[in-house]
Amino acid sequence: MNRRSFINQSAFAVGALTVAQKGILSSFFEDPWKITMLTGEIGIFEERGGTIAFLLSKKGIVVVDSQFPDQSKHLIDELKKKSEKPFKLLINTHHHGDHSAGNISFKGIVDHVLAHANSKINQENSAKKNNSEDKQLYPDQTYTDTWCEKFDNEEICLSYHGAAHTNGDSFIHFRHANIVHCGDLLFNRKHPVVDRGAGANMKHWMEVLDKALAKFDSKTQYIFGHAGPGYKVNGTADDLHKFRDYLGHVLKFVEGEIKAGKTKEEILKATIIPGGEDWMTDGIQRPLTAAYDELTAKS
Ligand SMILES: [Zn+2]
Ligand SMILES: [Zn+2]
Repeated sequence: MNRRSFINQSAFAVGALTVAQKGILSSFFEDPWKITMLTGEIGIFEERGGTIAFLLSKKGIVVVDSQFPDQSKHLIDELKKKSEKPFKLLINTHHHGDHSAGNISFKGIVDHVLAHANSKINQENSAKKNNSEDKQLYPDQTYTDTWCEKFDNEEICLSYHGAAHTNGDSFIHFRHANIVHCGDLLFNRKHPVVDRGAGANMKHWMEVLDKALAKFDSKTQYIFGHAGPGYKVNGTADDLHKFRDYLGHVLKFVEGEIKAGKTKEEILKATIIPGGEDWMTDGIQRPLTAAYDELTAKS
């Protein structure tokens, strides 16, 4: 077959594909990750795991969360194309593997890794339990209440408001741009993980979100750890209100079922939470289990 007839036949073959097949073909050639710039120097990276944010400042690059090792390698390669500056700081919103397992890809590349003190303890405990200590890059800097540092004309402030999704979740505020990375303090229309083993508390999580709504303003843009299908990983205070209310609906529903004499097994059969109808993803048992355990815990 000469080259021309091969091209003609190939073109015909592609033309004969269904739309779905063409979609598979093009996704095969496209990058599996997506970068969205929110400002000239702050962007988000989505591939697999919790949403990553980054700042490309004149002083250097700051990254918030690291997904998994391969994803961080993809991110590092992309950011090197966008900036010649060094990687100054990697921040973890909390310890979960889908936010910190990629830290190891920054070993020898980044100056410092920062997280809340409890997040570091949780990361160490998880790694010891999973026998994965050699695959970790732990924070070398921690804080307890607040932490701020200037990066050229941007200032990054971390704040901690107590137990929520874990006992070590930070809000990361890019003050000049007025963008806040919430990590897993916000699951946008997706049933959340509630890590009671790492000190999570749903009632207090609602208070933490109220504190954020009081601390930040109506123009603040938010980045979320995760979103349900069709929903975005960034949004507004309205999404924080909605998620706070959703947590309240879960607790109210489970409390009502307990009072009605339902067993835990019966409660876990629910497929929808009244008031939380936007949360249609799998994993409803996670918040139901956590709410049941929290409400029936002996204090
Ligand atoms: Zn996560
Ligand atoms: Zn998490």
